[in-house]
Amino acid sequence: MRRRLIVKKFGGTSVQDKERIFRVAERCAADYRDGADVVVVLSAMGKQTDVLIDMAHDINPHPPKRELDMLLVTGEQISVALMGMAFSALGIPAVSLNAFQVAMHTTSVYGNARVKRIDTERIQHELENRKIVVVTGFQGMNKYDDFTTLGRGGSDTTAVALAAALRAEKCEIFTDVDGVYTADPRIVKKARKLKEITYGEMLDLATLGAGVLHNRSVELAKKYNIPLIVRSSLNDSEGTTIKEDTRVEGMLVSGVAADKNTTRISVIGLEDRPGTAFKLFDLVAKAHVNVDMILQSIGRDGTKDITFTIPEDTEDECVAILKENLKRLRAHDLDVNHDVAKVSIVGAGMMSAPGVAAKMFECLYNADININMISTSEIRVTVLIDEKDTERAMNAIHDAFGLDE
Ligand code: ADP
Ligand code: ASP
Ligand code: MG
Repeated sequence: MRRRLIVKKFGGTSVQDKERIFRVAERCAADYRDGADVVVVLSAMGKQTDVLIDMAHDINPHPPKRELDMLLVTGEQISVALMGMAFSALGIPAVSLNAFQVAMHTTSVYGNARVKRIDTERIQHELENRKIVVVTGFQGMNKYDDFTTLGRGGSDTTAVALAAALRAEKCEIFTDVDGVYTADPRIVKKARKLKEITYGEMLDLATLGAGVLHNRSVELAKKYNIPLIVRSSLNDSEGTTIKEDTRVEGMLVSGVAADKNTTRISVIGLEDRPGTAFKLFDLVAKAHVNVDMILQSIGRDGTKDITFTIPEDTEDECVAILKENLKRLRAHDLDVNHDVAKVSIVGAGMMSAPGVAAKMFECLYNADININMISTSEIRVTVLIDEKDTERAMNAIHDAFGLDE
């Protein structure tokens, strides 16, 4: 009979020093001794990825993306090798593997690759030999036989992709908080840990700025129906389970998230006639920039303005292409502001409850916070506000919806 298989992922703070590495090793050894097959996915130690990015920019402010990935993958390689040694010190058979040894195939986009396919033979073989398999998170290989990375926080996605490919019983994400909270506990002190949350809600929260999980990991977990558990690497508390359906708590709003990586661009004085929006967003798309919120003013005197938001780290590309084409677009002017942030509420319960958006707007009004733009879906409301108001807005919204109760 096949043994049960568990994928356990540990983030940077969980493997930041010798003591924590051994704590992780002990924790995985317990499942191993219990008879399970264990695959461990690790991030780079502590803030190593940030250190490597700074090193790169010190040499070249615009490092070639291929070379940057070549550098960044070293971080994860250090942690898996040290973990392999820790297991050996404990007398537990283990083997560390990088993306090439696993054969973790991804798309070719350096810095933001997506997992395409994983050849599981090597891992299966090692598991059959009763070894714990320690895999580098965050990295992959592309069709040019180069290293790629999956985007910041991407080790979560490595873990879920492995759990799906190996048909694991569950995927546990160990981090420096006890689970998924109603808001980032570093910003909202009254934030409360959730026992469970749906894939859909978690996907929105992660996409809208809740950095506790890489959003693609949630997307994959939903697609392959992998139970995902977020829990602390420092204690044994239960954590949060992310799954298809949880309506036990019947909460209207499950969480608040914020994203400061946002820039608002207004293109002013565009011609008010068919095809204008197409021309504008076609250009933006050609610069490989993702557009998020969009607002178009009512046409007056033959002209109109279009305002939209993009990730701040793509601002340079976007502004450059728009400036080049301002005449061709027949626009008068461009207004660019990156001192803005998105604040969102997410909750499957709001689908059938009117007045949720109004309550959010009322609470921002009471806190004297101005709303720049608004966008909504069935299970979320997002507002764009001044970046300096972010923390105040999150706390006010958290209070207004009684999320600490
Ligand atoms: P790791 O290195 O383990 O991957 P991350 O820093 O990526 O850890 O994610 C954990 C952090 O996510 C927490 O320290 C917390 O500040 C932040 N966070 C943001 N939103 C939330 C949320 N809703 N619930 C829990 N943590 C959150
Ligand atoms: N080490 C990578 C990062 O810092 C990946 C991860 O931690 O998930 O983004
Ligand atoms: Mg993370």
